[in-house]
Amino acid sequence: MGYFVSETVIKEIKGRLNILNLIETYLSLKRSGRSYVGLCPFHDEKTPSFHVNDEKGVFHCFGCGAGGDVFGFVMRYKNLTFAEAVAELSKQAGINIEKTNRDNVRKTRRDIFFKLNRLVLNYYHMLLLESEEGRAARDYLRKRGLTLDIAREFYLGYAPFGWDALAKYLASKKVPTSIAEEIGLIIKKKNKDEYYDRFRGRLMFPIRDVEGNALGFGGRTLTNEEPKYLNSPESEIYHKGRVLYGLDRARDYIRRKGEAVIVEGYMDFLSLYSAEIKNVVATLGTALTRDHTVLLKRFTERPVVIFDGDEAGEKASLRVLDVFLEEGISPHIVILPKGEDPASFISKEGRDSLLRLIEGAILLIDFYIERIQRDFLNRKISRNKAVDMVVEVLTKLKNPIERSHYIRRSGENFGIRENELLSLVGHGEKVRRETKVEIKKKSESQEKLILRILLKFPALSHYFRSKSVIDFIPEGEIKKIVEEIVINRVDDVSSLLCRFSSGPAQEIISESIFSTDDVTNETTALRMLKDCIRKLKLKAIEEKLSIMRLQIEQAKREKKDSLEERLIREYRDLIEQEKGVQGEANDD
Ligand SMILES: [Zn+2]
Repeated sequence: MGYFVSETVIKEIKGRLNILNLIETYLSLKRSGRSYVGLCPFHDEKTPSFHVNDEKGVFHCFGCGAGGDVFGFVMRYKNLTFAEAVAELSKQAGINIEKTNRDNVRKTRRDIFFKLNRLVLNYYHMLLLESEEGRAARDYLRKRGLTLDIAREFYLGYAPFGWDALAKYLASKKVPTSIAEEIGLIIKKKNKDEYYDRFRGRLMFPIRDVEGNALGFGGRTLTNEEPKYLNSPESEIYHKGRVLYGLDRARDYIRRKGEAVIVEGYMDFLSLYSAEIKNVVATLGTALTRDHTVLLKRFTERPVVIFDGDEAGEKASLRVLDVFLEEGISPHIVILPKGEDPASFISKEGRDSLLRLIEGAILLIDFYIERIQRDFLNRKISRNKAVDMVVEVLTKLKNPIERSHYIRRSGENFGIRENELLSLVGHGEKVRRETKVEIKKKSESQEKLILRILLKFPALSHYFRSKSVIDFIPEGEIKKIVEEIVINRVDDVSSLLCRFSSGPAQEIISESIFSTDDVTNETTALRMLKDCIRKLKLKAIEEKLSIMRLQIEQAKREKKDSLEERLIREYRDLIEQEKGVQGEANDD
């Protein structure tokens, strides 16, 4: 977590900020009944499904499920952590949060690094645009078809030759050398208390996070010096496995388009971006990681990865497939002709040709399975090997519908029975775990209804206290919220949202508030509540009965007569109980 900020302070911030005013600075809203509606900034849509209720201080989108309070909104919109959102909104609310703890110290260190990188970025940038020395870099940009406008938009720069240009500049600005060394801008000479510049004679690309903070730099040589690209070393602020180049500029295009094109490296990124394909990001000197996909998922669930013609090998594509499937996303791919990269393809074939390829992108999983099939038909691999490879991928598919689709198809393609394939794929522990989740989802409506009723009529929570019926609500996020209402007696929405400052609970609560209001008065509400509980009880009994049936069968098989008798007695009692619960419906 970040700052420790008390709930009182959080509430005070909320009290001073109006959610409607806050959200209206980012998008336009129209009044509709008791709430305000607009086009959701978190997914692409044509008809508004984004609702704001300023009385309760909550927003919710029925299209994508995003929801929460003011903190939830800025966290999403600006991709902040809860701590960062608190810091930002406290400023807007004019509340001074005491800065004392260690996280704050770390935050200040980060701020110092960001500030230093910004200073260096401006220094390199001016050298590129204005200095005589920078001409070589300007020429290089022109040769690659990149304009100075693009150089300005991305703060491209030029690191001069000579060994200590930056070191001297930093000294003139009184920057402590230890700090500049820590983020790899300068390097200490052996056995001497002197420093030299890491980047020399290079075209510079500042690497920025989604908020636009400069994390580090990449430099391309202008003299064929090795390496061709040199990046800042990993540091407290820069981790190459977590940053996607250009996301700070491209994020809104990605959101609007509902799609992100993924390339590798600065030049490919810039060539797409300047060809007006702006929903693009680039990985930097590393394969796509899980952190990358998590980051990207905040903006779109449709990634299109562009592979150079010669690197679409099995391993590269399988790794990409893996990291996305982990996140429950199925990526699309474009494979360029052999020997081409995105930049060279655009300059030869034009942007429209590339756009057509992107539009016609195929699912990576299809590509992968087809490859296996081809290798199998060409007798490069055995049937067993092919089936193993397919099963390995299908086990990772999280969506059951998708999974059964591929199982059916692969069964046909490889000439093996669907059932056989199903049992192979079903062997993965993962699959079993997810079947459980599916079952849980189906019963969610009862719990959701309970939550909705309690939020509207908090007084009814006494019903749960007296009967300890809370135990019948299945474990999960909703139960936690209900417990907060019933046990800790937190019953206003604003406080509830404070208790669940991040995570799915915010969305569940906001959804409850905006859901269609069919609960009109307390008497109806109580009846509905009792009905929910009854259904949950019945479900619990049903589950117990089905387990007992198995136990009885087993006892019979093992000829444990007395055990069997006892189980049958208990089974009958349970059935009586079930009848009793069913009968409760008539007692109301
Ligand atoms: Zn939405």
